[in-house]
Amino acid sequence: MTYQNPVFIPGPTNMPEVLRRAVDMPTMDHRSAAFAEILQPALAGVKQVLRTETGEVFLFPSTGTGGWETAISNTLNAGDTVLAARNGMFSHKWIDMCRRHGLNVVQVDVPWGEGIPAARFEEILTGDRSHEIKAVLATHNETATGVVSDIAAVRAAMDAAAHPALLLVDGVSSIGSMDFQMDAWGVDVAVTGSQKGFMLPAGLAIVGFSQKALEMVEAAALPRTYFDIRDMRGAYPSSGFPYTPPVGLINGLKVASEMLLAEGLAAVFARHARIAEGVRRGVAAWGMTLCARRPELYSNSVSAILTPEGFDANALVAHAASRYGVAYGAGLGDVAGKLFRIGHLGMLSEAQALLGLAVAEMAMADMGLAVPMGAGVAAAQAFYRSEG
Ligand SMILES: *Cc1c(COP(=O)(O)O)cnc(C)c1O
Repeated sequence: MTYQNPVFIPGPTNMPEVLRRAVDMPTMDHRSAAFAEILQPALAGVKQVLRTETGEVFLFPSTGTGGWETAISNTLNAGDTVLAARNGMFSHKWIDMCRRHGLNVVQVDVPWGEGIPAARFEEILTGDRSHEIKAVLATHNETATGVVSDIAAVRAAMDAAAHPALLLVDGVSSIGSMDFQMDAWGVDVAVTGSQKGFMLPAGLAIVGFSQKALEMVEAAALPRTYFDIRDMRGAYPSSGFPYTPPVGLINGLKVASEMLLAEGLAAVFARHARIAEGVRRGVAAWGMTLCARRPELYSNSVSAILTPEGFDANALVAHAASRYGVAYGAGLGDVAGKLFRIGHLGMLSEAQALLGLAVAEMAMADMGLAVPMGAGVAAAQAFYRSEG
């Protein structure tokens, strides 16, 4: 195993040296004034990255999955109905969590490779005259299939149906890499983690609650203690934490937000779009296609590449790791073995993306795929030379 190569898994992402140093802190008293100088800028920075003025941010020592649990357990009651599309492993797992919490899920099955069907959501919400549906769950970027869904369209569907449900959005693999607008899209709870767009080690669930979501918290009766945002909300004004905070990670989050905002969110998203487009050109030059079915569904944080029928894509991922020391994402759930994923979110450059394409070509040729050596790299090179 070499630690010299960048990883091409769609999270955890490559850590910039400055963030690796930012999380490496000596022990400090988290009840001291020094912690306030870490926590408050971290919360303020995340608010800006989420593009919310009116929402409130909470940080839990956890991961994105804990963020899902925070979102549902603080806003819903057992027996409540939620609406969700299942279009990949992450939306699948959030639905599964809802069921295990005793929620009733109206599950819209769509082919993996498709996005959230906003028009179908509008029909269902319009038909729900007694407002049984309390929340709409949306996975902004389905990391398993490399599909980005249109959250503004989901909000428009809810508004067209004049439906009061909350909009809970999984932005784990989009926030900090692709356009995300909590206030403008009327997102009530936004969920992410530290190890994707924020380029940090895993260990933080990062959630934003709208004022409307905060109003639901008292009445929400799903069991929770560790993830109860009331304890966080009570402690933050005096820069306290309801339990021992991971100070180094929160310091990393402060610095990561500063980095993203200094580059400028628009520039960060443009960088991701450019790198992703080079990768997509490479994939096309290999004569291969993405799992995402149409260009408007193409994710700028991960590309899921379909391999020929009968080929074991998981064996390709294992070979690339053992022979070349380069990590790609394997297929998950329904698409296991059928595709491999090139993650291109977080701190990545055009030069590194070329490495990812070049090694993938060698690994595919080793495994017997008829990929012309250099074809994908050349296509990406042509694009990177001409753009930016
Ligand atoms: C990574 C990911 C998660 C899960 O996050 P963990 O931090 O592994 O718990 C959830 N949703 C999406 C879209 C993801 O990409």
